[in-house]
Amino acid sequence: MKLPLALPFLLLVASAPAAVSTGTPFSGDPPDATHPWAIHDRNRPQPPRVEPGTSSTATQPGRPPSDAIVLFDGTAASLAKWEADTKPGDPPAPTKWIVRDGALECVPRSGQIRTKEQFGDCQLHVEWAAPVNVQGNSQGRGNSGIFLMGLAEVQVLDNYNNPTYADGFAGSIYGINPPLANALRPPGEFQAFDITFRRPVYQDGKLVDPGYITVYCNGVLIQDHTPLEGPGGNMRRSSHRPFPERGPLKLQDHGNPVRFRNIWYRPLPPRSIEGGTDGALTPAATLAKRRSIAAGIRSAAAQLPRDSVAELLRLAESLVYEKDAATAQRVDLLANAYVQTLRTQPAAELERQRGEIESTRRAFVYLERHGFVAKDHPALAGLNRIVSAQGWDQQKKK
Ligand code: MG
Repeated sequence: MKLPLALPFLLLVASAPAAVSTGTPFSGDPPDATHPWAIHDRNRPQPPRVEPGTSSTATQPGRPPSDAIVLFDGTAASLAKWEADTKPGDPPAPTKWIVRDGALECVPRSGQIRTKEQFGDCQLHVEWAAPVNVQGNSQGRGNSGIFLMGLAEVQVLDNYNNPTYADGFAGSIYGINPPLANALRPPGEFQAFDITFRRPVYQDGKLVDPGYITVYCNGVLIQDHTPLEGPGGNMRRSSHRPFPERGPLKLQDHGNPVRFRNIWYRPLPPRSIEGGTDGALTPAATLAKRRSIAAGIRSAAAQLPRDSVAELLRLAESLVYEKDAATAQRVDLLANAYVQTLRTQPAAELERQRGEIESTRRAFVYLERHGFVAKDHPALAGLNRIVSAQGWDQQKKK
């Protein structure tokens, strides 16, 4: 059989994959109907780099991580990111809350405030301090609140030595779920709330994810992925309802001069149920992602020397994600041509190319085992014959 591809194979050395991550192709369990990536897939993107911040103490605010969107940094200038929580339709108005000693302080009865910025799912960091001058009790002592998307309240309250109803305790999802513990510092000292918020997701009018809130108070877990039951609220049992796509963060004026500092958030990527590509996906989303991974690998293959073993292996790798007919045909062509070329080589030359020959063979063993190429692929049969004739299958693995 004569093929037009004979010479280039002689010029090749096994090429290092130009991958974005490490990992060996043709090794881990392949993608399936609900997972677009193989196990230990080198094509899976690396996590983005984030420079970590520093922790806060009761006296010193920490530094936010590098990708945080800062909503209040202790300066009067960052007050411009907030406004009065005016009624819908009313013109915007500046907040009457004040900045004092690096903290944003509620001016009682001036009304609640909101960020001008609107956002949804997030990691949110908020530090707050109840007035050092302790007044009132139960819900009357150091009361404020953090309203995610302006709807669900994570309660802010001075419960250091102040009982109240459990589902209205500091760190409760107000009217829904009490905190797991009381990890508060005394009034006057800053408390750190680290919150993970996921809004409810509806599809075709049906609730498919209730939304969740996780809260750490001063590093202690107090809400453990608590499902929402609607936004919660005062006196009335709330029930599920759609949230908008985005909303402002609101801080409550409950008549106490509670102070806030070091407020920042990091937007979170979509969950798989709403189009994210991590975790188990729907079959349709998996198929779409597998197609796009395959297309990326085919583009990478197009940058490699034409008719090379490197191109063959890269194109073969793309078949794991999508069995594109033209690519499958080219993989067959290149593989068969490769084997034909090898058959003309003397044993010593084959010995020199052993690494490349064996990795190509391993690739085809994998592809055949997982059904990405036809059973009894002629290239695999040919490679097996070479391995056997060279006695490599009798030797210890290198
Ligand atoms: Mg409140």
